Amino acid sequence: MHLARFNRVPLGHFPTPLEKLENLTKALGGPNIYIKRDDCTGLATGGNKTRKLEFLVADAIAQGADILVTQGATQSNHVRQTVAAARKVGMECHALLERRVTNMGDGYEQAGNVLLDDMLGCEYSFFDEGPDMNEEGKKLADRLSVNGKKAYFIPGGGSNSIGALGYANAAQELVYQADNQGLKINKIIHATGSAGTQAGLLAGLHGLNAPIDVIGISVRATKDKQITNVHNLAVKTAELIGIKEELKKEMVVAYDDYVGSGYGQPTDEMVDAISLLAKEEAIFLDPVYSGKGMAGLIGLIKQGHFDKDENVVFIHTGGSAALFAYSHLFSKQMAA
Ligand SMILES: *Cc1c(COP(=O)(O)O)cnc(C)c1O
Repeated sequence: MHLARFNRVPLGHFPTPLEKLENLTKALGGPNIYIKRDDCTGLATGGNKTRKLEFLVADAIAQGADILVTQGATQSNHVRQTVAAARKVGMECHALLERRVTNMGDGYEQAGNVLLDDMLGCEYSFFDEGPDMNEEGKKLADRLSVNGKKAYFIPGGGSNSIGALGYANAAQELVYQADNQGLKINKIIHATGSAGTQAGLLAGLHGLNAPIDVIGISVRATKDKQITNVHNLAVKTAELIGIKEELKKEMVVAYDDYVGSGYGQPTDEMVDAISLLAKEEAIFLDPVYSGKGMAGLIGLIKQGHFDKDENVVFIHTGGSAALFAYSHLFSKQMAA
């Protein structure tokens, strides 16, 4: 695996820290919980999409593009990081925002990530749930590619094989850090949505011959569907990297027990997990992804899924900007 063969533009602060969560480990009574701070990638409040965008934006530049087009849910962290990346390299950004969550009250379509999209100068339009958003995005990119302009379409979540290279690279960064710390990682766990993060990690670990289990906590799809999506993309990513050895479907682990009633819909376990991390570790998770990912870790610990002396790495994929669109869940004053 030699990722310098691929185009990449620097957008984030790397390596992100790998640290032990001493207070949380104590509060839960083991296993040893570590955190990989991919919320600290630095780009416009950070998050996991920054790693993918380093490869995607480089590909856009190589193709002579001057506009980025992408799509996501209203409170998309991916859209916010994509418009930030566009700004850094002097491109325009157009985004399609899908109204996947419609019951969060006033401010949901203005606050949090949407506010940051406004500040970054994103051109966006809202879509009601229904159409194939990637198809709509491609159509928009075609419409914008006129008068000497060229638009480059990035799929939802930046999840194609080029974007997933960012997480193959993260796998390498993480293993190198762990080796330097003398830390033997037993398991990695994180929230999984458009599948690029888990697929890239699996491809990267496979390429490094570092067989560490990666557990995905689904935020939307059923377990079977998520495993299939992750596997398909992991295989394509491994192929792009040039890994010969087969990446088997049995290597993909995902759970759908923490989605609740749907994407972006709060669960009690998510609220508890976010509150616990804030109070024990002064770390802010997010209500759509990392909060449910942490609820998954806590749930699996309670079910006895891990040995007490195992070392588990939680990847904090970012997203805390969305907290400000869900403040009713956490505000003492609003609860009173
Ligand atoms: C996009 C996102 C994820 C999910 O990553 P995928 O690569 O889409 O599976 C997790 N956490 C946060 C905060 C995200 O924005």
